[in-house]
Amino acid sequence: DPRLQAISNAIRVVPHFPKQGIMFQDITTLLLDHKAFKHTVDIFVDRYKGMDISVVAGVEARGFMFGTAIALAIGAKFVPLRKPKKLPGEVIAEAYELEYGSDCLEMHVGAVEAGERAIVIDDLVATGGTLSAAIRLLERVGAQVVECGCVIGLREVKGQRRLNGKPLYILVEPR
Ligand code: 5GP
Repeated sequence: DPRLQAISNAIRVVPHFPKQGIMFQDITTLLLDHKAFKHTVDIFVDRYKGMDISVVAGVEARGFMFGTAIALAIGAKFVPLRKPKKLPGEVIAEAYELEYGSDCLEMHVGAVEAGERAIVIDDLVATGGTLSAAIRLLERVGAQVVECGCVIGLREVKGQRRLNGKPLYILVEPR
C-alpha cells in the first residue's frame, strides 16, 4: 500500500525525548499533514467498516486523535479509556506495568454493554502493556475485543502480532 510510506514519512522522530536514549515517535506531524492523516484513518476505516463493530475504544491521549475519526466513519460509539481520576462517573480500572512503576486506565461503567464488538485504538504499541489493560477493561464488561489497531508498532511486537490472544493490526514500524 503506497499510502503507508507517506504515513511513515509524516511521523517525526525526536531523539532523547522524554529522556536520554528514547527515539520518540511524534505523531503530531502526521496530524499536520492532511493527506497522510486521512490515509491513516481511511486504512483503519476500510478494515473495520464491514466488521459489525459498535465500539471504538481509544487510549488517552493519542488514541483519541485517531479513534474518534474512525468511530464516526464506521458508525460506532467512541469510548475514551482514560488515566486515573479524569472520568467523572462510576469507573472500572485496570493497572499495567511501565518500565518504572505502573499506570492505570479507567472506563465508565455503562459505556459498553455485554456482547458488543469492540476495537481498541492507540497511536503506538511498544510492550503491549497499555493495550492489554484496555482489552481487560472491555472484557470485564462482556464486550468482545475483535482487534487492537495502532499506527506504529515496534519490531519486537510486530513479530508476534497478537496481544492477549487478540489480533494486533499495525500500519508502520518506527523509523
Ligand atoms: P506500551 O504499553 O505498549 O509499552 O506503550 C504504548 C504507550 O506508550 C502508548 O499509549 C503510546 O502512546 C506511548 N508511547 C510510548 N512510546 C511512544 C513514542 O515513541 N511515541 C508515541 N507517540 N507514543 C509512545
